[in-house]
Amino acid sequence: MDRTYLFPPFRRPAALVSGTAQLFPVNRIFCVAKNYQAHAKEMGTTVDKGAQSPSYFQKNPVNLVACRSEIDYPPGTSDCHYEMELVVAIGRPGFELAEEDASELIFGYACGLDMTRRDLQRQAKDQGGPWDAAKDFEQSAVLSPIVPMSDTGVLDAGRIELRLNGETRQSSDLSKMIWSVPEIISDLSRLYHLEPGDLIYTGTPEGVGAVAAGDLLEGSIERVGSLSLRITAS
Ligand code: MN
Repeated sequence: MDRTYLFPPFRRPAALVSGTAQLFPVNRIFCVAKNYQAHAKEMGTTVDKGAQSPSYFQKNPVNLVACRSEIDYPPGTSDCHYEMELVVAIGRPGFELAEEDASELIFGYACGLDMTRRDLQRQAKDQGGPWDAAKDFEQSAVLSPIVPMSDTGVLDAGRIELRLNGETRQSSDLSKMIWSVPEIISDLSRLYHLEPGDLIYTGTPEGVGAVAAGDLLEGSIERVGSLSLRITAS
């Protein structure tokens, strides 16, 4: 029997690729929690790299905001935070990779915002429950166009900044990541078969904070570019 869809299947989310008309189809969105010591500290904790592994969560790709310059203030929160992050776009499959081979999987890099309902995250932590509703909600994964690695080289250092209404709120350097991009890719590849289309949000530096309707967020990463996002009233 030939089966047909009841309604049209959803289109695959996609990211823009800088300098081309091509789209990068998005498979999964992995995020690293606490990858800068100063951010871990502002969250009331410290990371002991010798004793801990990176911790991950995922965002549903349908929650990607790749081609828009505004998002609605999300529902269910009164403490929605920005987290400016370097995003790595995976262009080749890989499994159980050594750290020295990990960079071969990278297609390119982008600027990302891991929008977070901090009040729901705090509540989840207090109750010992999962964070999903705090991290994975509509329009919560903001992404700039992807810049191919052929244009940037391998990024292991460079300024990462976020301005809120023109005022610098986050300012750090990619070299301050606790786990480097190759270390993250290698570690993730022991847990998942990485695929072309996977995105990795690599964690935010210190200076996270709340947004309000009307705010303008401008993020930039040296050699990658920038993103600009207006928060509108829902
Ligand atoms: Mn984050």
